[in-house]
Amino acid sequence: MSAATAGTAHRAAAGGRRAGVRDQVDIAVLGGGIIGCLTAREIIRRAPGASVLLLDRELVGGGASLRSAGLHIPRGATAAVREMARFSHEHYRKLVQDRPGLPLRPVAMRVVGTAADEPRLRTDYLPEAELTATSDLPDEVSLPPGAAAWSVQGGHYADVAQVTRALTADLRTDAQIGEAVRVDAVTEHRDGVALRLGTGEELTAGKVVLAPGPWLAAPAWRAMVAPLEARVKKVVALHVGGRPAPHDAAVIFEREDAFLLPLPERGHWLFSYTCSEWDVDPDAPSKGLTEHNLHEAREILRRHAPAMAAGRLSGRVFCDAYSGTGEPTVRALGDGRVVFAGAANGSGYRLGPAIAARAADLLDMGGS
Ligand SMILES: Cc1cc2nc3c(=O)[nH]c(=O)nc-3n(C[C@H](O)[C@H](O)[C@H](O)COP(=O)(O)OP(=O)(O)OC[C@H]3O[C@@H](n4cnc5c(N)ncnc54)[C@H](O)[C@@H]3O)c2cc1C
Repeated sequence: MSAATAGTAHRAAAGGRRAGVRDQVDIAVLGGGIIGCLTAREIIRRAPGASVLLLDRELVGGGASLRSAGLHIPRGATAAVREMARFSHEHYRKLVQDRPGLPLRPVAMRVVGTAADEPRLRTDYLPEAELTATSDLPDEVSLPPGAAAWSVQGGHYADVAQVTRALTADLRTDAQIGEAVRVDAVTEHRDGVALRLGTGEELTAGKVVLAPGPWLAAPAWRAMVAPLEARVKKVVALHVGGRPAPHDAAVIFEREDAFLLPLPERGHWLFSYTCSEWDVDPDAPSKGLTEHNLHEAREILRRHAPAMAAGRLSGRVFCDAYSGTGEPTVRALGDGRVVFAGAANGSGYRLGPAIAARAADLLDMGGS
């Protein structure tokens, strides 16, 4: 039975009841971050008759999505990630047209590397990026000796939490949204996937999407997710003083896997660099920024934006799930009725639409 047919059959069995948490749904999406939200949206688009339930143990748009810098860079280091980036780039382009009020803001972009990097950059960046040599950089950024810069088209950044919440609001017509509802157990049975909730309720889903962000070790799915060998890493993005001008460009530092993003609406820059602290617990009390974090960040800033390195640094600190392959993980688990979607290596926003589409493919609901 297709999900759409199952939804109709279920509604008939339930006498058309739409309010309240049903004890049976076609598809449950667990985790209401950007990936869970986009996946629920994609499922409803493909199977409008299906009964869909999106659950989060807190408010939707929390988790990694709340802290995200939300930068979309039109590039990918592997062919698979490039295809996901291309798909997501197009998805966000259409989304801005359909929902003009969403906080997705185009941003000029520069890439800093060396002349030797150019052939790889021309492979990694999508044709839409129109990579072009330039010397036009924000006043705060200087090119170290031997460095070169290129301009990139098609970048944007988003308030990921707000986007998630706005898109979830749209979903409320067609899906049930359960906030502050923790999932305590996920168990495959012959007749479906049983979910036990923190509210004491139990329900059965025909299929389940796990979109847990960095909560890979939640007791409900720890054993199910363990074979994926995904891990959780700290992510640090610093808030750097010096008010950006309205048209300042974001600057990607290729060699360091770091970037500077102007946030004029917040009145500061954001500097994200690659932090190597692994196996972080998203529920452990945050230590915030450490001396080591500031030391690592300042080393990169001194090379590229010395005045910023000298200033006071604060920021946002959280974590994200990493796959170990450099590509997001979207995979059926167990007997195939549970699909994992995430572990996007710090790129869950920019690759989110493609992750959602693949998860929906694996649910095999017909339509695409
Ligand atoms: C500081 C920072 C900067 C970043 N910058 C960028 C960037 O510039 N560009 C980019 O593309 N990506 C960026 N990322 C990465 C990106 O934000 C994440 O990959 C993305 O938000 C992950 O989305 P998600 O939906 O998988 O996870 P989350 O947003 O973490 O959502 C998972 C949800 O699952 C819920 N949950 C957990 N356990 C349970 C349970 N037992 N029951 C019910 N619900 C549960 C949580 O409450 C949470 O809401 C950044 C991340 C951070 C931390």
